[in-house]
Amino acid sequence: ETPSERPAGPAPRHRTVGVRVGSVTVGGGAPIVVQSMTNTDTADVDATVAQVAALARAGSEIVRITVDRDEAAAAVPKIRERLDRLGVDVPLVGDFHYIGHQLLADHPACAEALAKYRINPGNVGFKEKKDRQFGAIVEQAIKHGKAVRIGANWGSLDQELLTHLMNENAASAQPRDMRWVTREAMIQSALLSAARAEEIGLGRDRIILSAKVSAVQDLIAVYQELARRSDYAIHLGLTEAGMGTKGIVASSAAIGILLQQGIGDTIRYSLTPEPGGDRTVEVKTAQELLQTMGFRTFVPLVAACPGCGRTTSSVFQELARDIQNWISHSMPEWRRTYPGVENLNVAVMGCIVNGPGESKHANIGISLPGTGEQPAAPVFIDGRKALTLRGPTLAQDFQKIVLDYIEK
Ligand code: SF4
Repeated sequence: ETPSERPAGPAPRHRTVGVRVGSVTVGGGAPIVVQSMTNTDTADVDATVAQVAALARAGSEIVRITVDRDEAAAAVPKIRERLDRLGVDVPLVGDFHYIGHQLLADHPACAEALAKYRINPGNVGFKEKKDRQFGAIVEQAIKHGKAVRIGANWGSLDQELLTHLMNENAASAQPRDMRWVTREAMIQSALLSAARAEEIGLGRDRIILSAKVSAVQDLIAVYQELARRSDYAIHLGLTEAGMGTKGIVASSAAIGILLQQGIGDTIRYSLTPEPGGDRTVEVKTAQELLQTMGFRTFVPLVAACPGCGRTTSSVFQELARDIQNWISHSMPEWRRTYPGVENLNVAVMGCIVNGPGESKHANIGISLPGTGEQPAAPVFIDGRKALTLRGPTLAQDFQKIVLDYIEK
């Protein structure tokens, strides 16, 4: 098969067992789920409810909250209740480390209010304690009918397993490098824990795996191997991705490559926000990745050229920005009023070079006048030139055309 004979598009999805997390299905061929995590103190019910609601309204289909101590565990049922009263039915996942077994046993209302428990096999205990404490969390999941995510993490890797693999590697005829050993420890940590959970009695349809690393190439290698060796549903994410464009680029590269290979049932962007920054950015970024790669559709697509020396006036940039903002703002209402509106394509182009061509590919496109062109902006609807806009109300006139199109 030469490259040109290969079918375009992503590889077939890696087959996994579907897992119900509250009302959402992860894996088993279900659409790839967007999830996120709060950064509030879970014991602060008001702040956590506000952030979960904001994340859910931005499109997060599952939200994870930290459950790190008694006060946080006691707050979980109150948070669930308040969200239900607000009509926010997003499933909540409890993120447990070190003492999850105790918290779940001491707070049955918390165990019940959560839809899934995240267990980190690297910090659930050591030797016999580990077996006992890991087992206790799994038994709680069985008792309450909940899913678990077994989430190995590069930063808190199971040291016992790592030491064992290092010794085994050192004694082998062809020892591998330390990076390989660490990757193998991540993979085995997730798979051995999942096998143990099944032995205790948790169904495969209640287990999701993740193995998060902060380096893109390691993450890709670890997840490829995890998928090759099992059919558990897979949660993808680059851990400690970082701030700003670095975090977005690194996560998009890693997650995008794996999704293209058919790997991944749910994704989370672990972006570090600016102090006081908008947490919903990670949700919007995850949606944009899925939409841009053609896996899901969340909002109408606005194609805009980057602009260049032919767009010396600010009209083009302002129109592209205003249309994008207007659509984002209108979406919550449009979604209710106009089913299917997310499939709309709008093009805002800067001049005659690519403007008419790109506009014809969109449902509605406008080609603004570049420097030296006639002060007129042809508008294309469903590939045909429909009218020409001019003058100071051009932006409002174009919005009205878009809205008319949606209503029709
Ligand atoms: Fe520049 Fe025109 Fe191309 Fe936009 S369409 S980048 S304005 S040449």
